[in-house]
Amino acid sequence: MLHSAFLGDPNVITWIHDWVPLIFMGALVVLVGLTMRMIPRTRPAEIRPQETPPIAWGDIAGVDEAKDELREIVDYLRNSKRFRRLGANLPSGILLHGPPGTGKTLLAKAVAHESGATFFSQSASSFVEMFAGLGSARIRRLFKEARRHAPAIIFIDELDAIGTARSGGAANREYDQTLNQLLVEMDGFSAKGDVVVLASTNLLEKLDPALLRPGRFDRHIFVSPPDLTGRESILKVHSRNKELAADVDFGLLARQTSGLTGAELANICNEAAIFAARRDSDQIEMGDFDAALERVMAGVPTRRTLSEHERRVVAYHEAGHALCGELLPSVDPVHRISIVPRGVALGYTLNLPDEDRHLKTREELIDLMTMLLGGRGAEELVFGSITTGASDDLKRVGDIAYAMVHEFAMGNGIRSMKVAPETMSETTRRVRDEEVRELADQAARAARTILTAHRAQLDELASTLLTKEVLERPDLEAIMRGIPQAAPERRGSRHLGIAAATAVDPARPASAGE
Ligand code: ATP
Repeated sequence: MLHSAFLGDPNVITWIHDWVPLIFMGALVVLVGLTMRMIPRTRPAEIRPQETPPIAWGDIAGVDEAKDELREIVDYLRNSKRFRRLGANLPSGILLHGPPGTGKTLLAKAVAHESGATFFSQSASSFVEMFAGLGSARIRRLFKEARRHAPAIIFIDELDAIGTARSGGAANREYDQTLNQLLVEMDGFSAKGDVVVLASTNLLEKLDPALLRPGRFDRHIFVSPPDLTGRESILKVHSRNKELAADVDFGLLARQTSGLTGAELANICNEAAIFAARRDSDQIEMGDFDAALERVMAGVPTRRTLSEHERRVVAYHEAGHALCGELLPSVDPVHRISIVPRGVALGYTLNLPDEDRHLKTREELIDLMTMLLGGRGAEELVFGSITTGASDDLKRVGDIAYAMVHEFAMGNGIRSMKVAPETMSETTRRVRDEEVRELADQAARAARTILTAHRAQLDELASTLLTKEVLERPDLEAIMRGIPQAAPERRGSRHLGIAAATAVDPARPASAGE
């Protein structure tokens, strides 16, 4: 009763009438204010040329082609009048692409330093937020700032975060708007010519074609992992300020680090310095570099304790890899085998190439899969059962076999064309799946043949591993003495086939097994 009397009171009704809309509006304003405060504020990082530590051309090694291309841009930014007098315009956008850690960001910073231009750097992922329209506003602001400070360089890292092909779908509207804004801005300033846009990506093939057309990112510079001389120079660059012992051999280290990027090589130099400091030494020795190389390639040693049976399984698994690696001429020579758990691995076999390779034959890829399946093959042969330890090997075999069939048309059937997965008929898909399986099975059979034929060496490798835990190249050579192997000059260049790899040493009877 009291309740309805209260609501019936004309004063209360007037109060509600006057104040509730105001309170509601106030709450709305507070809510919008709070939401605005939650929006992350990202500003482009502005680096002035004179700021430290400056990156100069001398700090970057092993990417000479990319450096030569970019020197042209530096020349233009320094002497833009000379170029413009002759009607020459800068390319509007330069795209650095290549695997992660090859020095793309470093190159962009060196351009900024050497040209004396102000450098604005922003990661493309920081443009895009959940709030629609924010990404395009950020792009506008970035270009406005750069124009205000011309001559300037805008560097957009990880361009693929906004630059992948536009979907047109409602769910990706924010991405599409951000990309559209970037396209508009790039069209807008190209005539003025004193702002250069550099961008980097690991995924050139996924970028929207509109970004790559002439007038936008029309100059593409591939920044590849360094070759042998490049690796040696990068190691020297990153050891410049370090005290080195006389035994440090960068040539040897460069040979042992095929396929590694500049970032990984920089990491090895740093890890070597840490190892030397831990020894309380004043100088970094070759042993420190060796330990660093092992840590970077195989991971940090872990304290996992394995049962005696597990140790034996791991030893045979690694011995299986090593034996196949040693006997297959096209596989890189085995440098070290270890059953000390490191990172997620319980053991590892390190194969190091004698030289950089750019092409691989079908037979070489089958040999590589055979070596990868040698671990599981040994487990099966010796213990009659298989374990979960081969999961990484199996994944790599799957990837290689898939690429052989789908990318390189190296299967047993179709060898004359590549079919895109989206246009593949159901029948072709079935045929190709079958081809992938056949290749992997062929490698598994080859591994089994090698292991069975060289059972004595397999046993000896495994038992030596169980006692010493780590076998180096000379240990391996001692065990394999007398077995016909590929001559060093034939490794990596010619395929001798399973026949050579399975040639049994008549002096050694096959072991009875476990
Ligand atoms: P991401 O694609 O992942 O962004 P990135 O190609 O931009 O990688 P950077 O950030 O330029 O790679 O390189 C990382 C680090 O690796 C550098 O700071 C440097 O220490 C080292 N580095 C990479 N490449 C080189 C090189 N060519 N010369 C010297 N150092 C290098």
